[in-house]
Amino acid sequence: MFQDRNIGCVECGEEFVFSSDDQQYHSERGYSDPKRCPSCRAARRSQSGGGGGYGGGGGGGGFRSDRPMFTTTCAQCGQEAQVPFEPRGDRPVYCNSCFSQQRQSSSY
Ligand SMILES: [Zn+2]
Ligand SMILES: [Zn+2]
Repeated sequence: MFQDRNIGCVECGEEFVFSSDDQQYHSERGYSDPKRCPSCRAARRSQSGGGGGYGGGGGGGGFRSDRPMFTTTCAQCGQEAQVPFEPRGDRPVYCNSCFSQQRQSSSY
């Protein structure tokens, strides 16, 4: 059966206990051993802002430069906004910062 193991956290270097219960849980689900202590894991989880997304170094951000961009006026703050679609006037268009605010306030 499983025995408690100490694992060194790759993030902060602290040792943490990978308990037998946790090992059983991980092996039942085919997970590999944890590499980070619980506090670093919690920190990472809160940093990434929810929504899963396992593995792979996320890169970049920003729009692809080969997309045509349309310049319009943000419906929220009135500043110039660049959007990757043609504004039609039947729905409000927001600049990047207002758009992310809208998403945050509406999704939770
Ligand atoms: Zn750690
Ligand atoms: Zn705005």
